[in-house]
Amino acid sequence: MTITCDICVIGSGAVGKAGALALARAGLQVALVAPALPAQDAPPPADWDLRVYALNHVARSLLSTLRVWDAMDATRIAAVDAMAIHGDAAANAGPLGFDAYGARVDALAWIVEDSNLNRALDAALRFASGVRLVQGSAVQMHCTADRATVMLDSGQPIECSLLVGADGAHSWVRTQADIGVDYRSYGQRAVVANFACERPHHGVASQWFLGAEGIVALLPLSGERVSLVWSAPEPLAAALMREAPERLCERLQQLPGQALGALTMLPPAAPRAFPLRLIRSASLVAHRVALIGDAAHVVHPLAGQGMNLGFADIDALLAALGRREQAADYGDARTLARYARSRKEEVLLMQVATDGLQRLFSSELEPVKVVRNLGMAAIDRLPFLKRRLMAHAFGRSLYSPTGEKS
Ligand SMILES: Cc1cc2nc3c(=O)[nH]c(=O)nc-3n(C[C@H](O)[C@H](O)[C@H](O)COP(=O)(O)OP(=O)(O)OC[C@H]3O[C@@H](n4cnc5c(N)ncnc54)[C@H](O)[C@@H]3O)c2cc1C
Repeated sequence: MTITCDICVIGSGAVGKAGALALARAGLQVALVAPALPAQDAPPPADWDLRVYALNHVARSLLSTLRVWDAMDATRIAAVDAMAIHGDAAANAGPLGFDAYGARVDALAWIVEDSNLNRALDAALRFASGVRLVQGSAVQMHCTADRATVMLDSGQPIECSLLVGADGAHSWVRTQADIGVDYRSYGQRAVVANFACERPHHGVASQWFLGAEGIVALLPLSGERVSLVWSAPEPLAAALMREAPERLCERLQQLPGQALGALTMLPPAAPRAFPLRLIRSASLVAHRVALIGDAAHVVHPLAGQGMNLGFADIDALLAALGRREQAADYGDARTLARYARSRKEEVLLMQVATDGLQRLFSSELEPVKVVRNLGMAAIDRLPFLKRRLMAHAFGRSLYSPTGEKS
């Protein structure tokens, strides 16, 4: 029997799940296509998850509205109270600093484990009245003037007004909708691992731009623990993955200005690595199709923004659907164009900023090194510019001291 709904969301990563919940909360009948259905109340993992996200204010606000934020285990969420960004200047250059006090917010961001987030999303989905979970992978899709139909590998057809592609970087929906992409590999992998630290991190997220050795971030976890994301060129990433945990700890202990003392790798005591690439979709929409999350854009994780962009896509899609004309259905072309327009600036800005920073800080040219470090020192002395940067990085809900939205 054909399943009929208003919107079919394909892809059950965190963005797809949150998208389905948000659309259902707006009163729409949603089908969420997931290769595997959420486990019923799986016990929380004992180990610290190697996948963690720095979620900003926009993400927190959406997840709170969906009652997902409060369903997460709060004892495993760490607030980021400050950021210290270290350039690769030869000597005596202090880090570029951002802090929650300066931004007049309770925290710049929150570090959340993937498992904590997904367990809360799964629990919310089990109780969501407007979401029908359909197990399977989409293998065929067909759009007519007024409907879209998806066929799953199980043979199950789903008919809807709008198809939402939330199926990740290699989006099947994007390909089927004939939306082209600009794809560039960074020739880097992000090596991730968790560590216990000898001294408290005081809620500081630290980042080091190491030129030819890539970019290291140590993000605070609850207690005296930190999570590493080292965006390393392929050969170095391979070496980091091969070497003994003690050697990786030593490398991190030697980072200039590192204030955490001795580090010990936490179980599973073996890092994981993720290939890094820039993926720019030619469009966020096609006939009866909207893309959200990594299906729509993949950025370098140096600013910790991919998931945040995905959650902001959901907000924008809801707003566009909310403003559609009364006679229009959910896949109406003008509504989709409004969604695409509303995301254009922020997505482009984040793509340009993360890509530009990555290129700027990987250059080995001496004049470039000097300029980038001078630039960081200058930003540190310009409160207005710092506030603008913070508003973009940590969510536009941050307010300027005049009370205006930044
Ligand atoms: C090292 C690293 C660190 C990061 N840190 C941060 C951070 O601090 N903050 C931040 O905001 N972002 C961060 N990101 C980015 C973030 O991880 C991604 O943006 C986010 O996970 C994308 O989620 P998604 O739901 O869009 O896609 P995915 O998580 O890739 O989910 C896609 C889903 O679609 C399913 N699917 C695929 N094809 C089909 C099909 N044909 N039918 C049905 N289902 C299908 C897949 O099984 C999968 O479940 C980081 C990324 C990396 C690599």
